[in-house]
Amino acid sequence: MQELAKIYGDTLLLDKKFNYCPGCGHGVVTRLVAEAIEELGIRQRTVSVVGIGCGGFSHHYMDIDAIEAMHGRSPAVAIGYKTASPDKIVYTYQGDGDCSAIGLAELLHGANRGLPVTCFMINNNLFGMTGGQMSPATLENQVTATTPKGRDVHVHGYPLRVPEMMADMVGAKYVAREAVCDAKSIRKAAKSVRNALQCQIQGLGFSFVEFIVPCPTGLKLSVPDAYKWSREKMVEYFKPQVFKNEVGQNNEN
Ligand code: SF4
Repeated sequence: MQELAKIYGDTLLLDKKFNYCPGCGHGVVTRLVAEAIEELGIRQRTVSVVGIGCGGFSHHYMDIDAIEAMHGRSPAVAIGYKTASPDKIVYTYQGDGDCSAIGLAELLHGANRGLPVTCFMINNNLFGMTGGQMSPATLENQVTATTPKGRDVHVHGYPLRVPEMMADMVGAKYVAREAVCDAKSIRKAAKSVRNALQCQIQGLGFSFVEFIVPCPTGLKLSVPDAYKWSREKMVEYFKPQVFKNEVGQNNEN
């Protein structure tokens, strides 16, 4: 009998069940990060620095060293840790609220310093944990807990495209936006996770990846509808692409 190829299985690194809501995009990204750490053989020297929010639990599911930073301060903590322990592989795992609202200054200055540190921003375009409030990434006219009539860009400003800013930083050597809205985009996102960590392993400089993910609970949509909404609405505004890749020919996305 022909053997079927295994396409999904346990990872050694993920040793607990997720407590994310059913269908949450964090589950996909957390797994991609765990897989990449395993594949690159860097588990023993990797440190996760998490922010506040649903992503602040990402390290709870992994057998990995971690630091919990204050809201938005993960890049500053990661850079401090990397400076003291340059042999460590240090990455931040943050939501769009933590990373692009409260912690935008830390992110920009961190990227500008150009130290080999990796930031992963998981963009579900609202504050998920606290009840679905508007974040900098909330789309125009999108209804949230704090924008019951929709985001009015003349009052609240425009949805913030973070990787576009990161790409302009000389110290940033790998910058990408990926989506995790279907199987094809998830495979591409897996490559960017590996490339971002490779950028750090090779000591090239700062690396940043944004992931477009659905938050079914915050959007108040079913899981299929939340994925459809993210695929159609978010990806239209936040276009996935690799903005900068100085990692090397063998790691091209
Ligand atoms: S509130 Fe949203 S982001 Fe948080 S775990 Fe639930 S689905 Fe995920």
